[in-house]
Amino acid sequence: MIKLLCLCFYNINSQMKSFKPEIFRQQFPLVVNNDGTTLPVNGISQIGSSPLLVYFDNGATTQKPHCVIDSYHTFYQADNANVHRASHALSARATTAFEHARNTVKTFINAKSNKEIIWTKGTTEGINLIAMSLGRKILKSGDEIILALSEHHANIVPWQLIAEQTGAVIKTVTLDAMGRVDMLVFQQLLNCKTKVICCAHLSNVIGKINPINELIKKAKSVGAITVIDGAQAVAHFPIDVQSLDCDFYAFSAHKMYGPTGLGVLYGKQSLLDNMPPYQGGGEMIKQVSFNTPTTFNSLPFKFEAGTPNIAGVIAFNKAIEFISAYDAKQIHGYEKQLTIYCYQALQNLKVSSKKVVEFIVPGLPDIPVICFTLNDHHNHDIATALDSYGIAIRSGHHCAMPLMEYLNISGCLRISLAAYNTFEEIDYFIACLTKILWQENEISLACTNKNENIDQNVKNVQATTIIMTQFAAIKGWDSRHRQIMLLGKQLNRLDKNYRNAQTLISGCESLAWLIAQKNNHNVFHFQADSDAKIIRGLLVIVLAAFNDKTAAQIQAFDIENYFKSLGLIQHLSPSRGSGILAIVEKITGITQEY
Ligand code: PLP
Repeated sequence: MIKLLCLCFYNINSQMKSFKPEIFRQQFPLVVNNDGTTLPVNGISQIGSSPLLVYFDNGATTQKPHCVIDSYHTFYQADNANVHRASHALSARATTAFEHARNTVKTFINAKSNKEIIWTKGTTEGINLIAMSLGRKILKSGDEIILALSEHHANIVPWQLIAEQTGAVIKTVTLDAMGRVDMLVFQQLLNCKTKVICCAHLSNVIGKINPINELIKKAKSVGAITVIDGAQAVAHFPIDVQSLDCDFYAFSAHKMYGPTGLGVLYGKQSLLDNMPPYQGGGEMIKQVSFNTPTTFNSLPFKFEAGTPNIAGVIAFNKAIEFISAYDAKQIHGYEKQLTIYCYQALQNLKVSSKKVVEFIVPGLPDIPVICFTLNDHHNHDIATALDSYGIAIRSGHHCAMPLMEYLNISGCLRISLAAYNTFEEIDYFIACLTKILWQENEISLACTNKNENIDQNVKNVQATTIIMTQFAAIKGWDSRHRQIMLLGKQLNRLDKNYRNAQTLISGCESLAWLIAQKNNHNVFHFQADSDAKIIRGLLVIVLAAFNDKTAAQIQAFDIENYFKSLGLIQHLSPSRGSGILAIVEKITGITQEY
């Protein structure tokens, strides 16, 4: 275990708090209890003295500090009123706090004016706003939009929608060997038809700073508008929009310790002034009439239709104050140490003397976002197994399907760390991952006991009884997980020809396919398959419940109770990426049609 040596590298402003990871961490109640212990998440026993919640999914959203959580309570308890609309004192107080937060954001990203700070629901809405308002205004048939291939869907789909409406064409920039936007390719794509250039400051999968300074400069040479997706960047280093000189910069509050459902769109005033409103209603109007044209409010209100997320904006102010109280270099220094530590531990991870981790691109990332695959193991299987140890990491395509296609992978695992994570948590994660990989290898080698083969018994209505008996004899998640994996080995794999777009079930993070047949006696038989082992195991369990039954029997079967009795109810939760719920719904949907 290395010690936390990186704390006093920088001279810090005397008004700033010295960043001490263990004290910083105490500010986050979901990560640490008031008494310093960590909360149990899944009720699973600890390994040694390690914590029970290891939250490594900060790229998706960060946990919130006390001051942000408390701000909600205070606002609704003492200050709740709508903003800008009333002459009473409460509204004035809410409006003052609301507009103060706008000023805080302006300072935080060094914008020129509060008029350039638009509240949105998040990065996604910010980019949609630009595409629908500016895009619709300036784009015409044949114009070109350049997108980095590694973009999040939030910075792809709005442009696809607007390209379809206007006849503009999307060009994609590929990546260099290290995973950053390839400036040579970019230069080749750039021409006088290029009207908009969209690029993430950092990809949420690759975690490396794209050469956006150069990209913005080059964009200017052809008069193109630059849209920077800052969703991942703002959480990790200071942003100065004037020094970047980008036209737009969008980010989300929830990825930097602030509330969900709130974001910021920075735009240069000269551009925002000339853009039409994006949505209508509420605060965005000046004058509404049926007799004369409706006129619109000035910036920033022109783009803020309807009652905004007032409590969220005020809580976000607290999040910015909270994070700004520390020296950003100290936090960045600590995060760098965590990144190096985790990256090296993964790099050195061996099972049966073989290295098992393959990073999706070479080289250390610039922020603590590490993506990798594991030889012969489906990312979903590993993420599910880690969850059972209280470790939250992300698996799948990370809303970057074109990038997955480019890398020729169906998905990957992502560790994304924050400044409240610790070296001990990384040790615990590596220990659990090692254990899981050994177990998976063991399961692969285990012989299937023919007597227990559910497939052979599938015609027997008692297939569920066999499964329930097997699970009744099992204690603990480890053994249940092992049993699911063993069941998965019994599933007859679908022929490749049947694994196609028609049989694919949407709603699964991993791929799953289903074929349904009905015989002359109105009895259904289903065959299914998945690329993830855990899903194959869960499919055996689901098919045992539904196969060789009539529609009425299938509808009457209490699947929830069945999963509960097996101790697997969490797999039916809509929040799970497993997609088992989607498969169950697909089967019941098919039988309803008959
Ligand atoms: N862009 C990037 C790079 C992201 O990582 C994300 C979220 O993960 C988004 C955009 C979308 O952010 P939001 O869902 O907050 O709108």
